Amino acid sequence: MTAESTETVAEFRSRAKAWLAENMPPQEPDQAARLERDAEASWVRARELQKRLYDGGFAGICFPREYGGLGLGYEYKKAFDAESVGYEIPLLLNVPSFAICCATILDMGSEEQKRTHIRAALRGDEVLVQLLSEPSGGSDLAGVITRAERRDGRWIINGAKTWSTWAFAADYGLCLARTDWTVPKHEGLTMFLLPLRHPGITINRIQQVNGSVEFCEEFFDDVEVGDDAVVGEPGKGWEVASRQLYHERRSMGDGSEYTSGPGISEAEDVSVDLLSLVERTSQGDSERVRELIGRALVHRTVHAQLSEHVFHAVAAGKLPPTAGSIIRLSMAAVHDVETDTALAVAGPAAVVEDDAGQLDIGTRYLGRQIASIGGGTTEMARNVIGERVLNFPRENAADRGVPFNQVRRNKSS
Ligand SMILES: Cc1cc2nc3c(=O)[nH]c(=O)nc-3n(C[C@H](O)[C@H](O)[C@H](O)COP(=O)(O)OP(=O)(O)OC[C@H]3O[C@@H](n4cnc5c(N)ncnc54)[C@H](O)[C@@H]3O)c2cc1C
Repeated sequence: MTAESTETVAEFRSRAKAWLAENMPPQEPDQAARLERDAEASWVRARELQKRLYDGGFAGICFPREYGGLGLGYEYKKAFDAESVGYEIPLLLNVPSFAICCATILDMGSEEQKRTHIRAALRGDEVLVQLLSEPSGGSDLAGVITRAERRDGRWIINGAKTWSTWAFAADYGLCLARTDWTVPKHEGLTMFLLPLRHPGITINRIQQVNGSVEFCEEFFDDVEVGDDAVVGEPGKGWEVASRQLYHERRSMGDGSEYTSGPGISEAEDVSVDLLSLVERTSQGDSERVRELIGRALVHRTVHAQLSEHVFHAVAAGKLPPTAGSIIRLSMAAVHDVETDTALAVAGPAAVVEDDAGQLDIGTRYLGRQIASIGGGTTEMARNVIGERVLNFPRENAADRGVPFNQVRRNKSS
């Protein structure tokens, strides 16, 4: 129980159970897997459902009360999550809006930004996304070349971002830009909270091999914002980005206290229902299939335990915050095993549109690498674990300590 709460977890859980039954629509079988994340209508629906949660007093369980949340502990959130299984919950808003963007604003934003944007997001009025990766590369995040220049007391932003998930449906984006080229790369950055429907911003959608158009690219042409758009301090953008990455790593493995409901609605987190696949394909008697499915289910279970363990170890100071990369890495491994297992069980039916209805398995397989790239690649996660959890020596970097305008780059930048 927290200081603010007079309700035990059990009491909260039973109140949530009754409220959910009364107010939230039941989830149809497989609805999460079929959710069209790239369709505008899904976002309108998510905002509407979020408003219901907010009005009902169940939004933002772990966000502070002064910013629109309930100010309760992680165990209350877990209780709500457990009760919400089987209901249509706006999981779309969990990542990046709540668990990454709002969490970063909570840690690093101004009082005004916290009061305005966290509450608006919890009410379902604002969706926030991440504008980090650039066409020149995403792994070397501190090397961004989108620039923000000071002009007449305002900031003028020019450049381009890419792979921004769901920017088409968003109101604001956390955008990392370079504000000083004369200092080493980590020192010349500033984080901006950019309104996305703003003069000078062009948003295009990018189609992936699996047909999804949830990614966007943005072009900034003399986008003008004031100091109130700066998150943290000018020149201290890397501190904000580091905090953002910390929240991202945890949320990629569903290890954040700021999500709500069962899961995060990222394509890689919505598991294939392997047991029903076995039933549908009448392979329950096959020893080979049982072994495959058993292996995948064990991976998922171990991942869930590992997420809890890392969450508590970081909270207790027994592991550094960078240990979130362990959850991120494990999530990708689970995803790969599940996707491969589904394809092995479905067999050739996964690549044809017929009465067997298994084409979804093949389409998911096309997106198999998503889990190893999104949220920073698994190679980068291994680097972080090696260097900043296990304290191995750091990899060599030719640009360390060198003013950014003297770092050798290709001509386009
Ligand atoms: C599902 C998904 C969602 C995403 N959502 C967003 C989003 O909302 N906002 C956003 O800004 N970006 C987003 N991204 C982009 C993502 O952050 C980048 O794709 C990722 O950081 C890798 O950058 P890159 O694709 O430019 O690859 P690069 O950085 O060009 O890397 C290419 C390859 O080199 C490897 N590599 C690079 N440097 C090293 C190194 N030092 N050590 C070892 N290996 C290295 C990488 O692991 C990778 O395999 C998303 C990507 C995906 C797949």
